[in-house]
Amino acid sequence: MVYSGINLENVKISNRSAILKLLNDCGAMSRKDIAQRLGLTPATVTQISMKLLAAGILCEKGELEEEKRAGRRKVLIDINYTYRYVLSICIEAARTYIAISDLRGKSVGIREFSTDGTREPEKFLKQIAAESKAFMWETGIVKESVLGVGVSVPGPVDREQGISSHAFRIWNEPVHIGEYLQKSLELPVIVENNIKAFAEGELIYGNGKNQENLLFIKWGPGVGAALIVNGQIYQRIVEIGHYIVEKDGKPCRCGRKGCLETKVATHAVAERIRETCTRETMPRLWKRVNGDVGRIEARNIAQWFSMEDEGFRREMDDIIDEIARAVVNAGTMSIRTAWSSTARCSSCRA
Ligand SMILES: [Zn+2]
Repeated sequence: MVYSGINLENVKISNRSAILKLLNDCGAMSRKDIAQRLGLTPATVTQISMKLLAAGILCEKGELEEEKRAGRRKVLIDINYTYRYVLSICIEAARTYIAISDLRGKSVGIREFSTDGTREPEKFLKQIAAESKAFMWETGIVKESVLGVGVSVPGPVDREQGISSHAFRIWNEPVHIGEYLQKSLELPVIVENNIKAFAEGELIYGNGKNQENLLFIKWGPGVGAALIVNGQIYQRIVEIGHYIVEKDGKPCRCGRKGCLETKVATHAVAERIRETCTRETMPRLWKRVNGDVGRIEARNIAQWFSMEDEGFRREMDDIIDEIARAVVNAGTMSIRTAWSSTARCSSCRA
């Protein structure tokens, strides 16, 4: 976002966000306590909460007797978590997931199907729209009760325009996801990079409730990280998956060689286990696949962890150690970068 100076509308929006985030993190609270916690005037909190109550986004919740002044009660306000539902679409290289959840992040249902990047993007988006409509119909959720649609894709996105610029391993060209889905679903659509979207989820529903600074790691077919500083997601993705960790290593999808991803992404892990699994080194895993290592695939990685196979554990420890080292480096570098960016922002742009 471009900083455009102090603007009353921006201040209102940011105060509103702060109130909603506080209620989401700490639960129901009185207007007076909200004002104290956020350093806002009681009048500001009253004004904002009045509008949100009228819109049905907030609700008044019970009363709490103030200890010292008997007889005087304070009304608590909270987020109305049943206000609307949210439709989430997660497009990943192998599978696409559609989920409907309430504002607490509680899932009403989820469905998934194969991602077909070989088809024309429009045709695949048409399938996504049709699946979404069918899913809403099945779960009995009407369009009017849906707040909006959030779409996550790998790779860079133009969030303002709702365009996926280059969804790695899915599409090589820019795809106007937002425009297409907005038209067919008749709902507001936000398109976001997958790692940022997952980090946002962690911020709202996970560890971000009590931690202001986080380094979020995604470990799967791709490896990436997002940095959260002072409760805000740092605008650039931490490309941890493309740190070079091996001289002249295996070729990576980014065009370089020996990136972390070529060693620790799930398909690379599967390959490594296939190469090292023998009757002697990993007896239990070997027995499970009847000596056919071809059956060890990235998609069944979760099953292997439940097996008490020493050799497999050792190999995984090695892989996790490799990720941990990259994470420490990412932490060191990104905290410095974020720090210098904050300094620049407050001193020159203001
Ligand atoms: Zn790479």
